[in-house]
Amino acid sequence: MSAIKYSIVIPVYNEEEVIHTTYHRLTEVMKSTGEAYELLFVNDGSRDKTADILIQYSQQDSSVMLLDFARNFGHQIAITAGMDYAKGDAVVVIDADLQDPPELILQMIDKWKQGYDVVYAKRTKRKGESYFKKHTAAMFYRLLRSMTDIEIPLDTGDFRLLDRKVCDQMKLLQEKNRFVRGLVSWVGFKQIALEYERDERAAGESKYPLKKMLKLSLDGLTSFSYKPLKLATYTGVALSFIGFVYLIIVLYLKLFTDNTIAGWSSLIVIQLLFSGFTLVILGMIGEYIGRIYDEAKNRPLYIVRKTYKQQPIRKFAHR
Ligand code: UDP
Ligand code: MG
Repeated sequence: MSAIKYSIVIPVYNEEEVIHTTYHRLTEVMKSTGEAYELLFVNDGSRDKTADILIQYSQQDSSVMLLDFARNFGHQIAITAGMDYAKGDAVVVIDADLQDPPELILQMIDKWKQGYDVVYAKRTKRKGESYFKKHTAAMFYRLLRSMTDIEIPLDTGDFRLLDRKVCDQMKLLQEKNRFVRGLVSWVGFKQIALEYERDERAAGESKYPLKKMLKLSLDGLTSFSYKPLKLATYTGVALSFIGFVYLIIVLYLKLFTDNTIAGWSSLIVIQLLFSGFTLVILGMIGEYIGRIYDEAKNRPLYIVRKTYKQQPIRKFAHR
């Protein structure tokens, strides 16, 4: 048995419509390298036939391995598990829906052979995605960049190749609410971008509803920046200052002129505005506290129900 050179990590959640095509396209691309590879599918608690299909592939094809999660743990955790189990000298993370073209893996391998440790795929265009998704995503990456000190590349998802040594470092980062693409930037090493046009989903629907998108972006922000916390201090100082100036004006009008200010409605408006503001800031602090709580509980990141892999036939098994 030759040692595995490339591990392809594929997180899957309810992808029965697309998984056959994905398997065949990845197999074709990886065979063309002429080197040993594994397709490491991580089934993130799918409720459809995805797991059954993948179990079958794992029995027919010795290059396929399946990690079957005990429930849905989320995309970022599925990727993490894949990296933990991957055995290759280079590890590629790719979505199951073929939005990331598998053929690009060959170019990533070229760059890796030239000596780069991380080759990440940067989207120049995103086809078939809603106006809302494209624009909120673009805004988010820019906001994140302005808030953090580390260099997180713009418009880049988790489609990338990692050298073995980077993957080993990633395993040391055990934080619970993970923003994997940020963690890879944080680790460092020699990184390079490959530009590509993101395709439409080959079949099925997005498994990232708004709620999961929000969670991911909050994880990104809170894992890499304290700035939202400082917001409370800055706005507090600014508001106190305005309040103080206003107090002096009111006192002046009261003591030295005849016109006192009537204003029940303005009071209510100010009251609502500022209690809203206070609650937002409290919520922001809550986001951080919740994450500290997760760390304190220190539960495992994921639970694997079972792994499926064809046992290699031992031809020369002597006692
Ligand atoms: N995914 C996952 N767990 C989840 C949600 C998504 O493993 O809870 C997988 C999904 O099967 C796909 C990848 O993560 O391989 C990206 O999801 P999707 O394509 O739905 O996201 P989008 O491209 O719409 O942002
Ligand atoms: Mg997708």
